[in-house]
Order: sequence, then structure tokens, then C-alpha cells
Amino acid sequence: MNSKELKPIIIAIDGYSSSGKSSMAKALAGKIGYRYVDTGAMYRAVTLLAMRGGLISGNGTVDEAGLVAALADANIDFAVGAEGQRTMLNGEDVEREIRSMEVSANVSTISAIPAVRRDLVERQRIYGEQKGIVMDGRDIGTTVFPGAELKIFVNAPAEVRAERRFKELTAKGETVTYEEVLENVRYRDMIDTTRAESPLRRADDAICLDNSNMTIAEQDAWLIARYEEAARRD
Ligand code: C5P
Repeated sequence: MNSKELKPIIIAIDGYSSSGKSSMAKALAGKIGYRYVDTGAMYRAVTLLAMRGGLISGNGTVDEAGLVAALADANIDFAVGAEGQRTMLNGEDVEREIRSMEVSANVSTISAIPAVRRDLVERQRIYGEQKGIVMDGRDIGTTVFPGAELKIFVNAPAEVRAERRFKELTAKGETVTYEEVLENVRYRDMIDTTRAESPLRRADDAICLDNSNMTIAEQDAWLIARYEEAARRD
């Protein structure tokens, strides 16, 4: 193969909550004409399914058998509309609802359930069959696509990430305090890194990016350069 040719690859972007990985991943996919899959949105959609079905109680106890059955019948997909990519649960646009603090408060509990992870990982692998995909999450480079040609691991201190998320939520009209958001970010970090099944960790061959002091434009340019290197590699 001509080493200058860009071959279709799988790009795995993992990292901590609110590290900006979804925005980077989405921007990259748009620029290079790849499909973008937000796996956090998939775990959030399952969480909403559990909440709506009364399958998760106030103290975080989950009816796992009920949830697995509901998930087997559920369709989780993405649609592109005028407002960008939307997460669809059984044909309904749930994009806004899955970003609420209520869903954020429950999502790490739901995503620690092995049967939920097995189901979603299977769905995620199907998206990657044709390559030409940017997928972001927590376990993409370690579990979903351990053979991905490009793996990025994004991080920034919890305070920086909470500040970003707080601005995002208040801009959308949610009534939250910075302290609540910081607490949720720390809580999710703790559960995501300590769960038994596919905990959040950097794959050995992932490139680390701490974007605390980078502008969005700098981040995007950095990522495009990594993509071009990886897609030209024989
Ligand atoms: O990326 P986002 O913050 O929307 O993800 C929501 C939650 O979904 C994370 O806090 C994590 O608990 C879970 N998640 C996961 N594995 C993934 C993606 C997300 O466990 N691949």
C-alpha cells in the first residue's frame, strides 16, 4: 500500500467524565467523514430505560433481570438531524433527557452491571465492522476494540472537568451548583475506575492527552495529526 494513502481505521477515544472527549471525537469524525459513536450516550439511554421502567430504586438497587429483558427488546441508535447527532431510544429522541443530572447520578451504577456491558459492547462492535469510525467511551481501547489503530486517552483534573460540565448544564438551563457537578464527576470517576468489569484505564498503547490548557482548536489540530499518522501507517 502507498504509505501516503489514508486507510480506514478505528479510532478509540477513552477518558474520564467531562474530559471533552465527546466534543473532540465528534469534531474529528465530522472533519474526516467518519461515523461517530458516543458509547456514554448508549449507557445513558439504558439508564433512562431502567428509570422509566422503575427498575432502579432510590438507593441504587437494580432489578437486573428486568433490565436485561427490557434491553433485549430495546433499540438504541443515533439519528442525525438539524441539531446534530441525537440518541434514539426505541425511536424516541432522548438526547436531552439522557444528559440530565438524574441520569448522570444513576449511569455509573447501571454501567457497572456486567450483563449491560456485554450487551452494549456487542452492539458497539457491530458499528466498527466497516472501520471508518470514531468511538468514545471508557473501555473502547481496552475492551471494545483492543486492536484499534489509534487509541487516545484524555484526562484533565476533576475541577477543570466539573467547571466545563457546569457551564454546559447551566447553558442548557439546568439548575445545578458547581459543587453538585464536581461531586458527580468525582463519584463517576471512582465507580468507573474501580468496577470489576472493564474499569476505566488507559490501554498500554493509548496516547495520553491532558487538555487542561489547550483550546478546542489546538485539541482538534492535535487529534487530526494523530489520525493522519495512524491512517498512513502500514
Ligand atoms: O461519556 P459519558 O460521561 O456520557 O458517560 C456516562 C457514563 O457511562 C460514564 O460515567 C460511565 O459510567 C459509563 N460509560 C461506561 N463505558 C463507556 C462509556 C460510558 O461505563 N464505554
